[in-house]
Amino acid sequence: MSERIGFIGLGIMGRGMVRNLLKAGFAVQVWNRTAARMGELAADGAQPTSSPAELARQCDLIITCVSDTPDVAAVLLGEQGVIAGAQPGALVIDMSTISPQATQEFAARLAERGVHMLDAPVSGGSEGAAKGTLSIMVGGDAADVERAMPVFQAMGKTITHVGGTGAGQTVKLVNQILVVGSMQAMAEALLFAQAGGVDLEKTLAAVSGGAGGSWTLSNRGPQVIRRDWRPGFMIDLQAKDLRLVLDAADDLGAPLPSTALIFQLYRTLQARGLGKEGNHAIVKALEAMAGIEVGGER
Ligand code: NAP
Repeated sequence: MSERIGFIGLGIMGRGMVRNLLKAGFAVQVWNRTAARMGELAADGAQPTSSPAELARQCDLIITCVSDTPDVAAVLLGEQGVIAGAQPGALVIDMSTISPQATQEFAARLAERGVHMLDAPVSGGSEGAAKGTLSIMVGGDAADVERAMPVFQAMGKTITHVGGTGAGQTVKLVNQILVVGSMQAMAEALLFAQAGGVDLEKTLAAVSGGAGGSWTLSNRGPQVIRRDWRPGFMIDLQAKDLRLVLDAADDLGAPLPSTALIFQLYRTLQARGLGKEGNHAIVKALEAMAGIEVGGER
């Protein structure tokens, strides 16, 4: 008998992920805090439930994709949380981006009830969630990863078992350090090019294929030049992830001077009310220091 799937958190990511599970032929029960969001997916064949506990009572595999560490705590361990309904032998898969340390604590609490847990955060954004092409970084026991593999394959393309409980979250945070480092490098480079009076498009064409090239430069550089701040990934979520990185680095005693600085730059943008813009808008923090603007109408 195929596993009964439950999915908690029908946000930008969760909605696409559930649709891909349904497309792959899984029966999926769903729960979302804002109940109205369940209606849309019921039309696609998902079954709404009344609480995480009720969902867990009826499911073998329970997936969570909510915002932040306290939100995962609420849906897993709250009064009407998964822990109140899950059967021994059930497998919880948390696909949110949250604290690696808290992940270990949640897994230990669930294990007391005989419930297994994987951390499986993703990258690839809303587009990857919709297309089923997410990269999934998985932490936990190999047998649980094997059990979850058909479900991962319905939602993602690159699935990597990176280590024990919490390792998936640690690797996701590694990814975020790399993302913001390349955003900051792109922003400084374009600001310098603007100050130097060179043509920005020709500059991109000249350097993108060389050692200084990157996905960020090729994909977000042209957006910066056009001053198009629509998000691939929002500043508010980026700042949340950097807070997770810096908290974890503090626990580990690992100095991350550039990442700490970039976090502060994103904070200045949030303070200016720009939290819903894309993370490439970091260039605006540098523009405020320099008193010049990059790109736009010429
Ligand atoms: P989102 O659109 O803001 O959706 C958040 C979801 O979490 C909603 O379903 C929300 O319910 C639910 N939620 C939040 N707090 C809750 C609580 N205390 N109790 C119950 N439900 C709660 O966010 P998203 O973009 O889907 O992101 C989800 C996770 O994926 C985050 O950890 C994010 O960092 C990660 N992620 C996002 C992206 C991306 O590009 N968006 C990429 C990679 C990873 P309501 O509907 O009631 O608000």
